[in-house]
Amino acid sequence: MMQIPFLSLKDITQRHAEEIHDAVRRVVDSGWYLQGAENVEFERRYAEYINVENAVGCANGLDALMLILRAYKEQGVLTEGDEVIVPANTYIASILAITENGLTPVLVEPDVNTYQIDDSMIESALTPRTKAVMIVHLYGQCAYTGKIGEICKRYGLKLIEDNAQAHGCLFGEKRTGALGDAAGHSFYPGKNLGAFGDGGMVTTDDAELAETVRVLSNYGSSKKYVFRYQGRNSRLDEIQAAILGVKLKYLDTDNDLRKRIARKYIEGIKNPRIVLPNVPNWNANVFHIFPILVEKRDILQTYLLNKNIQTLIHYPIPPHKQECYKMWNGLSFPITEKIHREELSLPISPTLSDEQARYVIDVLNSWED
Ligand SMILES: *Cc1c(COP(=O)(O)O)cnc(C)c1O
Repeated sequence: MMQIPFLSLKDITQRHAEEIHDAVRRVVDSGWYLQGAENVEFERRYAEYINVENAVGCANGLDALMLILRAYKEQGVLTEGDEVIVPANTYIASILAITENGLTPVLVEPDVNTYQIDDSMIESALTPRTKAVMIVHLYGQCAYTGKIGEICKRYGLKLIEDNAQAHGCLFGEKRTGALGDAAGHSFYPGKNLGAFGDGGMVTTDDAELAETVRVLSNYGSSKKYVFRYQGRNSRLDEIQAAILGVKLKYLDTDNDLRKRIARKYIEGIKNPRIVLPNVPNWNANVFHIFPILVEKRDILQTYLLNKNIQTLIHYPIPPHKQECYKMWNGLSFPITEKIHREELSLPISPTLSDEQARYVIDVLNSWED
């Protein structure tokens, strides 16, 4: 029987193994492993790809978001206790970046049709302490809307993008990561652009912000042994930058392959128990995840597993119900909670074959609880 993994990093790597081996060898042989030519080149190319003035490598996606907020604090743009609007349904990292900086997340419900922050609910969540909005392009779908841009402009709020799941996604002509004041990107291995370990990037048109992030990520030091801030050690390895440089070349093609699978699923899955994702604009989604909603989610997951189809849940417990945020456990976000209760992520990747997609579709269509 066919075995369908949720995602095979091995298969994904295999396609460009030789080029990746060459890149790794180049770094190994160079004798230079941090803050070198590979970072300079990858940052330049990534900035060009996103179409922003500055890109600063760092250790991971959480750090990228955390460093943006920290830099705004060092600049006096944000102060401890300030409020940051963020979707209630997101991966914990978006929220951690906010609380780690002593800022207050204000959770806003998503639109049940898009899973993205509901822009009609942002204004009523604003208070005099609101200083920023963090949008999350969840599942690889663009969360930005013109209305969000207008609200940020009207109230003088910084707009930060969590682009950990949406490398290559478009809003009109612009890429996500270039839509707000600054964006954090993750190169966790399973992301659409993934390293062979951890990695992250901050992109921004704001040169001063980029410089502050760069200094903060290097112990707060702009000059050796002179420390301007109480910084961190959050750098992108040369070896990861070199690997990412190879993989960036194939990102658009890989995203197209993901879309191809998504189209097959959307056209092929015809089971009334399954709610398929809404795709109003195919350019504005890079399908990091293919989320479906099912009332009997856990039963379906077991059924699929018995048919050798591996699925995941993104995510089983919303941030406000987590033990680490006990003080919010009593809050109620019904749409967020419904999504966390019913979401199931089908296998999707650039290496999933048409035959495998067909099998997933057939198995789903024959499911009757
Ligand atoms: C993966 C992810 C992050 C964090 O990235 P890491 O590189 O794992 O630190 C942040 N936000 C979202 C939405 C993510 O999916």
